[in-house]
This record gives sequence, C-alpha cells and structure tokens, in this order.
Amino acid sequence: MKTTDDAEHFGYRVLMKALFGGEPPTWRNRAACADADPDMFHTAGRTAAAKAMCASCPVLAECRDNQLSWEANGPARFRDNAFGVVGGLSGAERRRIHYPAKNVKDVA
Ligand code: SF4
Repeated sequence: MKTTDDAEHFGYRVLMKALFGGEPPTWRNRAACADADPDMFHTAGRTAAAKAMCASCPVLAECRDNQLSWEANGPARFRDNAFGVVGGLSGAERRRIHYPAKNVKDVA
C-alpha cells in the first residue's frame, strides 16, 4: 500500500467533510479518474487528455452537476477561480456557465 496515496485520500476525506459535511458521494468510486494523475486535470497542456478521460467516464453527469453546484452555491471565489478540468469542462467553460456575459480566458 502506498503511504502517499493514503495520506492524500485521508486529506481528501477531511476536505469533503469540511466542504459538504459528510462522506464523498458514492458515485466517485466509479470515476474514470480514480487512479489517474491529478496533475492531468490541472495542467494547461493536458486539457485534451483530461477531457477525453471525462468523456468516457460513467459518472460524468453526476460529477459535472456536483462541481457546478458547488461553485454556484459557494462563495464567489469558487466561481471566479474555477480552474482545471472537472466533469469534462475546463475552468473557463464553467466560468462561462456561471457568468454567461463575461469573456473569460481559458488557461487550463
Ligand atoms: S467526469 Fe472527469 S473529473 Fe469527473 S469523475 Fe469522471 S473522469 Fe473524473
């Protein structure tokens, strides 16, 4: 067993409890990205690869809805700083959903 993975998983669970007051949703267990390199989703040059993984993910709809809801219902900084690919959408694409009238730049 990898100690680093355990520490990251523990940190993730603590973060989810802090943000949502409970355990991560069970659909996350079926995520295509469960064992993927997280950097792929936050690196400008790897956006296409991340989106390709999302496109084949069995929980794409749940993931996208969860992320958009989390950003929409949290402090404005969650929407303003949306970054990285989640639910098949880049940060800029999600910001365009939150702020349709704004012209936002895609960086990752
Ligand atoms: S849609 Fe993309 S980011 Fe969301 S769980 Fe699936 S692979 Fe991961």
